[in-house]
Amino acid sequence: MQKYDTIVIGAGLAGLSAARDLANGGSEVVVLEARDRVGGRVEQVETPDGRKVQLGGEIVGTFHTAYKELVAELGLTIGPTFTASTGETRWVLSDGRHTGDPLPWMSASDRRIYDDIERRFSKLAASVDPDDPWSHPDAAALDRISVAGWLRGEGATPGVIRALTLSQLALADEPIECTSMLADLRRESAAGAEGFYNYDAWENERVLEGSATVALTMAEQLGDRIRCSSPVGAIRVSPHRCEVILTTGEVLTAANVVCAVPAGPLRDISISGVSDTKLASLHRQKSALAAKFVAVYDHSFWEDAGLNGVAYMEHNILGGVWAQSAGIMSGLVPPQRIGTYLATPRRHLGQALIDEVVDAFGDVAASPAKTYTRSWGTDPWTQGYVTAWRPGDVMGVGPLHGKSEPPFYVCGSDQWLSGHMEGAVRTGRGVAHEILTSR
Ligand SMILES: Cc1cc2nc3c(=O)[nH]c(=O)nc-3n(C[C@H](O)[C@H](O)[C@H](O)COP(=O)(O)OP(=O)(O)OC[C@H]3O[C@@H](n4cnc5c(N)ncnc54)[C@H](O)[C@@H]3O)c2cc1C
Repeated sequence: MQKYDTIVIGAGLAGLSAARDLANGGSEVVVLEARDRVGGRVEQVETPDGRKVQLGGEIVGTFHTAYKELVAELGLTIGPTFTASTGETRWVLSDGRHTGDPLPWMSASDRRIYDDIERRFSKLAASVDPDDPWSHPDAAALDRISVAGWLRGEGATPGVIRALTLSQLALADEPIECTSMLADLRRESAAGAEGFYNYDAWENERVLEGSATVALTMAEQLGDRIRCSSPVGAIRVSPHRCEVILTTGEVLTAANVVCAVPAGPLRDISISGVSDTKLASLHRQKSALAAKFVAVYDHSFWEDAGLNGVAYMEHNILGGVWAQSAGIMSGLVPPQRIGTYLATPRRHLGQALIDEVVDAFGDVAASPAKTYTRSWGTDPWTQGYVTAWRPGDVMGVGPLHGKSEPPFYVCGSDQWLSGHMEGAVRTGRGVAHEILTSR
């Protein structure tokens, strides 16, 4: 039975960045990964002409400093995203297709009300500490109410609710009727409390070599410290020696365990030796279920028509699409449409999704060279997409969120705000630092 200083469970961005720092700090570390590949929710394939196609996480934003620091250390390059395009957006609405005008159904009065409510949202967001939302004097009340409930209480018109519903559909977050106001305030507070979710803060940068290249480069550095096809079934924690048991029955031991798996698969691991309160907090976490669709074209046809490749979709299976990179279009199926997505026979699904892109951009979009669908919501090793915070969940998970109970450490994007790559890297490197400084 081989002994390690630390066993890391999960070779996503969190587990890999924790393991890389631990190895660089002189620690004997092994990474156990269930799948036959590393990267978790970042995954890429290559087209015959050498373009990298992202099937999972893609984009970061201005304030994602931990991720960008890591990217620089790995010698990779940050570049712009679709937000830098000066082209126009498409709106596929129940009453027809529109181009350009942001929120084309809004009256002048709707726009005034939207701006007023957004100002109040920013002010409230600035009063929430993203690292400790529980300390807000109105934390429980803000967590009980949904974003949509709060908007209605502030006098939002149906036009304003429609705007934020479309934004949620495109992001594939949980519906605004099912999202805790406190969670949304916490997320936007971390982004600078400048209003509702804003692409210029959250989605304006990406790794030009391909977002999954970040994971692949770390894996290359870790070499045979990573064991793929090694699903963990149980963890037994004790102050002197932790045991990690693979589903094959093999037992590995170490002084510390770093659990870097998403909220859903984490519930499937039997864990003993960790306090009931910490386990209850971890098991309360939820994910939004989503799927991703990618269509590869020979060039960015949307640019020929003065468009930016972004479309919001009010009534399709897709919630929206955006330009991933040259000739490549990404789309997400949001949680409330996953039922329709799963019920569509597989042999019709690809065509159904292409038809939706045609709805947005016309026949020029009808013949992609290749399409990909990736059902992250039903994948046993992800069971989701990003973190879902339904009303009551922030208080339910409580201040133990993201906290470790040494020698049992937790990291991963679900242990930060809302399931982004920044959270994976930030918490992964955070636990490595905790372990190295506690030696
Ligand atoms: C379609 C999609 C689009 C996204 N878009 C963006 C985006 O543009 N920007 C952004 O910032 N974020 C985005 N995200 C989210 C982002 O990709 C993730 O939050 C981040 O990559 C998660 O990293 P992680 O290491 O915490 O978890 P994961 O990447 O999920 O890694 C966890 C690892 O644990 C493994 N595992 C699970 N169970 C076990 C077990 N029992 N034993 C051993 N191993 C196990 C899994 O196989 C996986 O490799 C997107 C996610 C998806 C799915």
